Amino acid sequence: MKTLQEIIDESRKIVFFGGAGVSTESGIPDFRSEDGLYRQKYTVSSETMLSHDWFFSHTEEFFKFYRDKMLPLWAQPNAAHRKLAELEQKGKLLAVVTQNIDGLHQKAGSKRVYELHGTVHKNTCLKCGKRYSAEDIAAAEGVPHCACGGLIKPDVVLYGESLDGDTIEGAVRAIAAADTLIVAGTSLTVYPAAGFVSYFRGKSLVLINRDPTPLDSQCDLVLHGKVGEILSGINV
Ligand code: NAD
Repeated sequence: MKTLQEIIDESRKIVFFGGAGVSTESGIPDFRSEDGLYRQKYTVSSETMLSHDWFFSHTEEFFKFYRDKMLPLWAQPNAAHRKLAELEQKGKLLAVVTQNIDGLHQKAGSKRVYELHGTVHKNTCLKCGKRYSAEDIAAAEGVPHCACGGLIKPDVVLYGESLDGDTIEGAVRAIAAADTLIVAGTSLTVYPAAGFVSYFRGKSLVLINRDPTPLDSQCDLVLHGKVGEILSGINV
């Protein structure tokens, strides 16, 4: 913790790269932990149910799973989200790059957030382009349809879909410009997102994760623990 505090004190351009583990302390399960979604009992894997093909071939089942597991509108930011917003506000953090789709960084006050996998908070009619909120999707019965009759699709990057070009560019630029990169709450197994870390050219690479990751051996500092607990111990 002392080393982390020293690194943060010395840094002026921190970038935070996070994953599902950043939101588990807000009560949202991640995918690969013991209590993660992948270990829960479904006849079809979450990876299949969250795929582009499944969305179009099993739309009703997609929305059943999506509403049940991917729309935690009750969730509140935790200590990690709040500390990152504070670091940005104090001018020490350039950006948050996240694989999460829950919008909790923005809810905590973060302004520059690159959401690599999109967000549950934007939803678009595939026919006329009208926008809908996450609340609209939660409240709709069955498959959500637009007034024009079109199917509404969450602006979430499903398995089998490409990431948004502008978001990739912004995220890569931020990571390449950072003096410190904090990677946290991610198993670093979902590509291409996990590969973004390789654009870092700065001084200190810090990893905060509950379980070991493939990146541990390359980091300047590794802290195995809960990201919210750890970041809340930092003075800004
Ligand atoms: P993952 O489930 O593969 O891995 C999560 C990692 O976080 C694990 O290594 C675990 O040890 C660690 N972790 C869990 N709780 C932690 C905590 N409190 N502090 C520190 N570490 C903790 O997640 P991933 O690498 O982000 O990949 C999963 C994919 O699933 C991502 O693409 C993401 O978009 C999506 N997802 C998003 C949400 C969300 O938006 N909140 C939730 C589940 C999955």
